[in-house]
Amino acid sequence: MAAPKKGDLTATEKDLFQVIAAGNVQEASRLLGCKDVRVNCLDEYGMTPLMHAAYKGKADMCKLLLQHGADVNCNEHEHGYTALMFAGLSGKTDITSMMLDAGAETDVVNSVGRTAAQMAAFVGQHDCVTVINNFFSRSKLDYYTKPQGLEKEPKLPPKLAGPLHKVIMTTNLNPVKIVMVVKENPLLMDIEGLEKCYRVMDLVCEKCIKQQDMNEVLAMKMHYISCVLQKCCTFIKECEDKLDGLIKCLLKGRDSDGFPQYQEKFIRECIRKFPYCDSTLLQQMVRSIAPVEIGNDPTAFSVLTQAITGQVGFMDAEFCTTCGEKGAEKRCSICKMVIYCDQACQKLHWFTHKKVCKKLQEQREKQEAKAAKKMEKQNEAENTEAVEEATGSMERLTAAEGSPSEFPAQPDPAVCDPPLAAQD
Ligand SMILES: [Zn+2]
Ligand SMILES: [Zn+2]
Repeated sequence: MAAPKKGDLTATEKDLFQVIAAGNVQEASRLLGCKDVRVNCLDEYGMTPLMHAAYKGKADMCKLLLQHGADVNCNEHEHGYTALMFAGLSGKTDITSMMLDAGAETDVVNSVGRTAAQMAAFVGQHDCVTVINNFFSRSKLDYYTKPQGLEKEPKLPPKLAGPLHKVIMTTNLNPVKIVMVVKENPLLMDIEGLEKCYRVMDLVCEKCIKQQDMNEVLAMKMHYISCVLQKCCTFIKECEDKLDGLIKCLLKGRDSDGFPQYQEKFIRECIRKFPYCDSTLLQQMVRSIAPVEIGNDPTAFSVLTQAITGQVGFMDAEFCTTCGEKGAEKRCSICKMVIYCDQACQKLHWFTHKKVCKKLQEQREKQEAKAAKKMEKQNEAENTEAVEEATGSMERLTAAEGSPSEFPAQPDPAVCDPPLAAQD
């Protein structure tokens, strides 16, 4: 069949565009089997079916089109937009990842000179920006799984490439989370394998700095991962509890306020050990962290996260207190001041959180009482009748929050009771 020309569509191809808009994957699958359908056909604006599906945020449809050989780097759009750009604009991180995995180029620019990451940032899709900026293709890692030059064996055993790639692709840089990923993978729980992994990370870091279009951000990330993997090695070798011991160290809060000192010092040390002292990124990070007393903001973790993922401010999302995953919504049922992914994360944190939980509860209750009083006063000025009811219910609410036994009566289903077994 002839190479696709803009707007030159068969009747079935026109149907395909409509079916994609409607999101009917089954029908799209049937149409893609027809003889007169080219998966990379172009509509009048030079958009492919994949671009449409990406822009509309339809993940299943994108997957189907890629399976049928859709060209992820087709660049015939009238303004030079690629499927990755449309994915970034849609704000869907799963589709953005899918395009990257399918080999989408990240440095292509549109007709006004913007990359996909820049376009996504322009429309406020920061999660997609993060996904694009943190992308490191599997093939770049696979390079180390083949012997180079005179090497008898490769630097990275091929079986480790998958697990290591998973670690590299994380956008959650919380060391606890990275240690959890290592712990879950038996292939990584091996000292010899881990040593190979962190040495490869060091090599990738060096390459990121020395390559022509230097990528300091990725270099810093690789260096940081190398540091965490080295720490894992040390604990597997020397600590009886192995990685559980490391997780405990990273989570342990200091007595005065529960601030995780060890974690803060560890991340600061990782940053300080970045081997390229001239790096602008390193200097910026050191300037942000150096004057800060341990326990104050910004934490080394937030500086690192901002430098690597570009995420600024953690206001609009809820992060797990233990592992830093986004979207955590289970609150400690007693203090309601910390939040977790699930009971497992809460259980890991309880040994140290239990020391400050009561204190946090008191703080919160004081704040709430204050807020209630303020509201009472405000309402008094407006309408006395409505006030009585409001304060009444407020009092009932505060009273109920004190004891965990009363929680089932609460409307909020997302509370998480502390693990009773771990209370000693
Ligand atoms: Zn968690
Ligand atoms: Zn608590």
